[in-house]
Amino acid sequence: MSLPSIPQRDRVKGPTELKGWPVAALETLFEERGIRKYRARQVYDALYVQRINDMHAMHVLPADLQQQLSTEFRTQSVELQTVQESSDGTKKFLFSLWDGATIESVLIPSELVEADGQPRRRTLCISTQVGCNLGCEFCATATLNLKRNLSSGEIVDQFLQAQRHSEKPITNIVYMGMGEPMNNYDAVMRATTIFNDQRTNMVAPRRTTLSTAGVVPGILRLAEEGQIIKLALSLHATTQGVREQLMPIAKRWPLPVVMDALEQYYRATRKSITFEYILFDGLNDTEQDVVRLARMARRFPTKINVIPFHEIDFTHPSGFAATLRPTPPDRFQWFLDRLREEGAHVLIRSSSGLDIDAACGQLALSEL
Ligand code: SF4
Repeated sequence: MSLPSIPQRDRVKGPTELKGWPVAALETLFEERGIRKYRARQVYDALYVQRINDMHAMHVLPADLQQQLSTEFRTQSVELQTVQESSDGTKKFLFSLWDGATIESVLIPSELVEADGQPRRRTLCISTQVGCNLGCEFCATATLNLKRNLSSGEIVDQFLQAQRHSEKPITNIVYMGMGEPMNNYDAVMRATTIFNDQRTNMVAPRRTTLSTAGVVPGILRLAEEGQIIKLALSLHATTQGVREQLMPIAKRWPLPVVMDALEQYYRATRKSITFEYILFDGLNDTEQDVVRLARMARRFPTKINVIPFHEIDFTHPSGFAATLRPTPPDRFQWFLDRLREEGAHVLIRSSSGLDIDAACGQLALSEL
């Protein structure tokens, strides 16, 4: 994979972030400052292998270099403000950024447990933007609008900071927090290079999922680059009309175009794709939806993640958003059963973190 170049903004803005550079980019950054290349590898290992957050604690470096680095770089990209813990063990982290912006990440333990009672998986849901400008009607983040993209350092540091609050290693990451990851592609991929680097022992590519609302150029770029991470589509409708009602982005990239792009991604990577499908009462939970959804899922290997709608009344929705209601539990179960009858591979996304507004689609910052 070719390494994205260092963005101009990061060269000029205050002390440069030390985190977020794949090792080759960090070497370039150091060489530009007259620092020997091999020091970049030492710093990279200190940050991601030993997980040291303070330059003065990187004892492999001579004192004068520690001093130079601490003047020219900052190690901390996000600052933890609060951690809220749900009754089900889900943790929601509120981070502040250098410009006063705030973001959230959510650490979700799986319901499956090992013999020692520990969850089998610990998944970190990572934010990629401050807010989001895609305006999905069911999403609390949409009410914040887009403030800016996160840097790769801010993306990686969510993991490093959250890891300190997890008894066991984080096993999976999903780019499914605040923002549309495809609209911050380069930073997300720089961070992914670090996460997936065997040397850092953070998260394997097969345990890294990027979820998109359907940004077709991003899907095609993933296909072109042969990225082997997992891809999920926020689908939520089986017709163009309902999808446009729920997700304005559907007007820009209609469903057939998105499906063609996904097929191209599958042909390039041979990786199955996940459809995320939130069930809304009376809107997308009919027999016809079951049939259409199962047909779409047969086009390439697909898993369908059916998700309960978590109401976002705390954002005071209006218009169409205010009419959205969750499908009642018996109809939810009927929908799952019918999909399975149609031969679909169906998973249910749990409502982890509901009591702390950390469930799917609820990230909107506690200041609201
Ligand atoms: S669901 Fe995702 S893409 Fe849609 S508004 Fe929310 S954060 Fe943005």
